This record gives sequence, structure tokens and C-alpha cells, in this order.
Amino acid sequence: MRQTNISEQLRHFPFPTKRNAVTDEYEFFYFEGVGINGKVFTCFNRQTGQKCALKILKDSNKARREVILHKKASGTCQNIVKVLDVYENMYANNRCLLIIMECMNGGELFNRIRERDDKPFTEREAARIMQSICFAVQFLHDMDIAHRDLKPENLLFSSKDEDAVLKLTDFGNDEKKPLATPCYTPYYVAPEVLSNERYDKACDIWSLGVIMYILLCGYPPFYSLHGQAISAGMKSKIRAGEYQFPKQEWEKVSKEAKDLITLMLTTEPQNRPTIEKVMESSWISRYGTHVPETPLEVPKVLNEEMQNWSEIKAEIHAANAYNRRADEDEVKLNPVSNCVLLKRRQQKRDTAAVQLTQ
Ligand code: ADP
Repeated sequence: MRQTNISEQLRHFPFPTKRNAVTDEYEFFYFEGVGINGKVFTCFNRQTGQKCALKILKDSNKARREVILHKKASGTCQNIVKVLDVYENMYANNRCLLIIMECMNGGELFNRIRERDDKPFTEREAARIMQSICFAVQFLHDMDIAHRDLKPENLLFSSKDEDAVLKLTDFGNDEKKPLATPCYTPYYVAPEVLSNERYDKACDIWSLGVIMYILLCGYPPFYSLHGQAISAGMKSKIRAGEYQFPKQEWEKVSKEAKDLITLMLTTEPQNRPTIEKVMESSWISRYGTHVPETPLEVPKVLNEEMQNWSEIKAEIHAANAYNRRADEDEVKLNPVSNCVLLKRRQQKRDTAAVQLTQ
């Protein structure tokens, strides 16, 4: 068996890419506000007028891996953001990969929940959202792909309408695979390169548990309280599965929901349920009849925690990286500066939890 390194395997895309200028087919308006977020921009198909999103990546193994994974995942599942075109262009003397995607006009999941003021956010709605995310994860796991970085900002709504579809994006998760992997032909990207270990799938289930927890109360199960996104304290909490269901937000949530979260947040990856098992639970599969329409405090809590939201997102990202057993030295995040309110809220909840157990 010949050993080839990842660079060699990623040199050729296993699908056609375009080499002509992206501007031949897509129009950009370079005025303020056109960028969606950092390296993601809006553009319009010149022929159809369709509004699209463009993600620009500097060509690298990591970028190639992201493009291949996203393209592969963007098939028939309606809960994964579709890749419409991939270009290889030079931009400012750099080789770039450009991913043209469908534009998700509805924005990020939790922003939408936070901004709602028309009707209450209920447990049943949370279950419906979880089912959408699970469809995406099931689709990936069936293809032996693990996303490995499921987090709120990668969950986007197709539009601002009531019936908008929630979709998963961003396959640029950090790589931690060995540098050489068995391969027979350079056109074939080995599954190992795209990550298919059962372990990584279990990591997705843990992240799903975290997202479900936030969906039901508005704050994450694990806090870092030492000014570092991935502090030693947080690691040990994750390792020990140390989290609570504080009474204030959780007493009105059904036992089924809490049981499902407990299963997904099982410390040992091998003991976590598969995505099939998660989806078999009646809380997800029969949410329409089995999940109560209890109004939740989530929009209110999300608004209260708004100034901590970027820290919360950083923590989830760090925890995902930690769970992937990435080399801890690689996890370099800026220190979290504003943890005070979070601490105060956590203390409030700790007190409530103590009272609950007394
Ligand atoms: P990064 O790799 O920098 O995290 P993402 O792919 O997650 O990049 O995109 C960053 C942000 O851009 C997302 O959180 C989202 O707000 C926005 N975004 C990404 N893709 C789309 C899209 N297809 N339509 C609309 N907005 C998008």
C-alpha cells in the first residue's frame, strides 16, 4: 500500500471546480454592509439574479478539506447549506478557494430566538429546531462524516419567514488527523482525511446536547469562570460532566428533555447515544404530540446574556476543540475579559440549585 500525504490527496478536487473569474458569473457590490461576516460576503448570480453567499478561503490543505467536506455534505439534505459553485481564483496574488452557497437570509439561530417579540418560544419549538439539526447530523453521520464543530453560529435560517428552514454550515473544523494516511489514487480522498471515527461522531452528539441545553434555558451548561475560554476548571467540569439544571429556568422543562440532554452529555464518548438513538426519542421524533407547548424564558435570558454571547460562543468552540482531543496547545483563544455578569448569574443559579436540593 502506498502512503501519500494529505497535501497530495487534496491536490485534486473530486468534483469540477471553476477556474474562470468568479466575477464573470457573480456580481458584487463593494459598499459598506455587504459583508455578512468576516470572510463571507453577499453576491448575486448575474444570470438568475439569485442572491448568494460567498466564502473566500486562502488555498491551503485545511481550506481544501473544508471545501471537499462541505460539497460532499451538500447533497439532498435540506438542513445543510447548499454549495452552488466552487471557484479557484487568484486574489491579491494569493490562490483562493471561493465557495458560492445559498444565502441564509434568516441569520443565526439564537439571534432569531433572541429577537422574537411576537409570540412565546416554547419547548415544542425547541424540539422542532433540535429535529432539524439532528436531520443534518444524521445525514452527515450516515456518510461517515462528523462535523466536529457544531455550534450556534453554524446554524442559520434560510429566511426571516415563519416557515424558514434551519441549516447547518461551516465544515472548516480544525484538523487533528495524522499527517499520512493510506491511499490508492490521488483523486480519492480517504475517509480518514475527512474524519469518520466513531469518536468524532460522539463529539457531535455532545455538542448537540450543549445546543439543546441552551435552546431550553438560554445559557450553556458549562461555564469557564477563570477568565480563560478553556480554563482548567472548565476542562475538569466537562470531564466530570459537571453541570446542573438550575430550578429557575428548568423546573418547567419536561423530564424527557432533561433525560435526553443527560444522555447526550455523558462523559464517556462510547456511552453517548448515536444520532439514530437521539432521533428515536419521542421528544424529537414525536415532538408535535409529545412535547408540551410550555413557554420558555429563553429569549429573555438570551437578551440578558447578550453581552456575554461572544464569550459563550468562544467557550463552545473551545469545548468542541477540547472534546476533539485537539492538542491543547493548539487551542489558543483570547482571554475572556467580561465574565462578571456570567459569574453573577452562575452564582445565582448555584444558590437556586442548592436551595432545590435542601
Ligand atoms: P468561519 O469559518 O469564519 O466560522 P462560517 O462559514 O462559519 O465562517 O461563516 C461565518 C458567518 O458568516 C456565519 O456565522 C454566518 O453568520 C455567516 N454566513 C456563513 N454562511 C452563510 C450563508 N450561506 N448565508 C448567510 N450567512 C452566512
